[in-house]
Amino acid sequence: MHGFSYKNGSLYCEDVDLAPLAAEHGTPLYVYSAGTILDHYTRLDAALGSIDHEVAYAVKANSNLSVLRLLANHGAGFDIVSGGELFRVIKAGGDPAHCTFAGVGKTREEIVYALEQGIYSFNVESEEELHYLNEVAGELGMIAPAAVRVNPNVDAKTHKYISTGKSENKFGVDFGAIADLYERASKDLKHIKLRGLQMHIGSQLTSIAPFIEAVEKVIPLVTELKARHGIEFWSIGGGIGIIYPTALASGTADWWENQPEDERPLTIERYGKELVPRLKDLGLKILLEPGRYIVGNAGVLITKCLYEKKGSAKTFKIVDAGMNDLIRPALYEGHHEIVPLVQPASDELIKVDVVGPICESGDFFCQDRPLPEFQPGDYIALMSAGAYGFAMASNYNSRPLPEEILVEGATATIVRKRQTLEDLIEGEL
Ligand SMILES: *Cc1c(COP(=O)(O)O)cnc(C)c1O
Repeated sequence: MHGFSYKNGSLYCEDVDLAPLAAEHGTPLYVYSAGTILDHYTRLDAALGSIDHEVAYAVKANSNLSVLRLLANHGAGFDIVSGGELFRVIKAGGDPAHCTFAGVGKTREEIVYALEQGIYSFNVESEEELHYLNEVAGELGMIAPAAVRVNPNVDAKTHKYISTGKSENKFGVDFGAIADLYERASKDLKHIKLRGLQMHIGSQLTSIAPFIEAVEKVIPLVTELKARHGIEFWSIGGGIGIIYPTALASGTADWWENQPEDERPLTIERYGKELVPRLKDLGLKILLEPGRYIVGNAGVLITKCLYEKKGSAKTFKIVDAGMNDLIRPALYEGHHEIVPLVQPASDELIKVDVVGPICESGDFFCQDRPLPEFQPGDYIALMSAGAYGFAMASNYNSRPLPEEILVEGATATIVRKRQTLEDLIEGEL
């Protein structure tokens, strides 16, 4: 589900009318639905409910402290990719003992910080990194808990920039090299405790097949590693895709879940139903690292139309949000539904490009897309912007970062203030 729908012609987030909110707080404005975040977290948790498991939210998707606090309060663990993310998790009240640390380029400072905080596992991406982790842990007189990331060489069938589980990607260690690596490490690396195995094949996967293929391929390997080295967990990664809802206007945000089973995109219930039977007898704790699934459909970016520019070939709607606020369309052809905050009177659609003010031709939110009519001064929402939205925002073109608001029922709370011009030059000489 998601918490955005029209009521009496106005787009609401839960019980908050978004147009007056945008007028009060200014735009561009990120708005998140706490109810949606918790619904997604709870449903995923329930889908794996019959086996020993933990949901470790991938912090990089949306690292706002209030989002992290919400999830920490409901028992989530966290998958982090930097020392900065660990710092955020701790500030938000998360428990380092429920954190896994991924990423191909961990620095010494980050390793020391994570060791001192007592994280659950370093998810290591190369033999070289495992040796370095052993060395640093040795200097501190500590034992580093670790899992190696296996690259199962499975095609996730997603955009090439967000595919991670093929041999040509920079991530993980080749499937065929893992068993020997664990053998050598358990003999030679005295400051490593091999605690698990990790994988993550890509992001925004909307079919179950690649997940099944990867899990079935790796099951014999984890079984062997458990027997020989006593590993206790297997992280099967994140990557569960979200449906970018096209039927929002109908008010039935759950429409796709009512589609016939084989026609509809991946649902979380299907994910659980297919994977749980395959995982339940392994005797391992199963970790999940979802980012986009938890927060993607829980957020929108509201922007105001500034100008309409009619060119000879196209009509451009120029809005006050740009690729610095939401880079997904420019970076990997990410799709965002676009809906006016005030439902238009007519059903007529007009083909337009919605573009931002940044001096880059890649600065667009859609091209040649039929959209309902809206005019300069009107607000529109870029839907499904809760994941990899604000988290990837920058100050490019010296634009202050937008404000973020978290809605819970009828309450809207500022969870990050809009940057000021002074903030822009903070720290510069
Ligand atoms: C990015 C990432 C995730 C989360 O991916 P989503 O597609 O947002 O679920 C999980 N695990 C690792 C190692 C990642 O790098």
